[in-house]
Amino acid sequence: SGAEVAALVASRVVDVPDFPKPGILFKDLMPLFADGPVFREVIDGIVAHYGAGSFDVVAGVEARGFVLAAAIAYATGKGVVPIRKAGKLPRDTFAASYALEYGEATLEVHRDAFIAGHRVLVVDDVLATGGTAGAALDLVEQAGGTVAGFTVVMELGFLEGRARLSPRTVHALLTV
Ligand code: AMP
Repeated sequence: SGAEVAALVASRVVDVPDFPKPGILFKDLMPLFADGPVFREVIDGIVAHYGAGSFDVVAGVEARGFVLAAAIAYATGKGVVPIRKAGKLPRDTFAASYALEYGEATLEVHRDAFIAGHRVLVVDDVLATGGTAGAALDLVEQAGGTVAGFTVVMELGFLEGRARLSPRTVHALLTV
C-alpha cells in the first residue's frame, strides 16, 4: 500500500547534514535504490499511482531522476527522456533557469525529445523548493509534450514546493 511504501522510504532514507552546503539536510535516497526489493517497491508504488495507461513516455531529471525514470519506463514499456543540466545534451535544446535550494541552475531538453502531444510523466528523487520541477515541467511543454504528472520519492513539505508548482500536481511516495 501507499502507507507501506512511505514507511519503507522513511526507514531507509539517509540524512546527511550540511551537504552540499552548511545548513542543508541532504536526503540520500541512493541506499534505497541500491536495495533490489526496496527499489522495486518504490518503482511499483509510482507505477501503481499513475497506471501505465496515463502516460506515453517518462522524463527523468538529472541525475537521480534518471535512475527512477529508466526503471518506470522499462516496467511500463515506455521510453525514457533525459532532462539534463546545461551543456550536456549534444543537439539543439530548450533551456530553463531556476533558483535551487542551494544555488542556481539551468536545465535543458532536446527540442525533438517528445512526440507532439505525448503525455510525459516527469520524475525526480526529491522535491524541495520546486524550482527544479517547475523548470522541468516548463521544458516538457516547450518541447511539445503534455505533462501527465510529476512524481518524487520524497517531498520536503516545509519548503512548499507543491504550492509553488500549483496548479500542477505533485505525487510523492513520502512527504516529510
Ligand atoms: P528544488 O529545486 O529546490 O525543488 O530541489 C530539488 C532538486 O535538488 C532535486 O533534483 C533534488 O535531487 C535536489 N535536492 C534539493 N534539496 C535536496 C535535499 N535536501 N536532499 C536531496 N536532494 C535535494
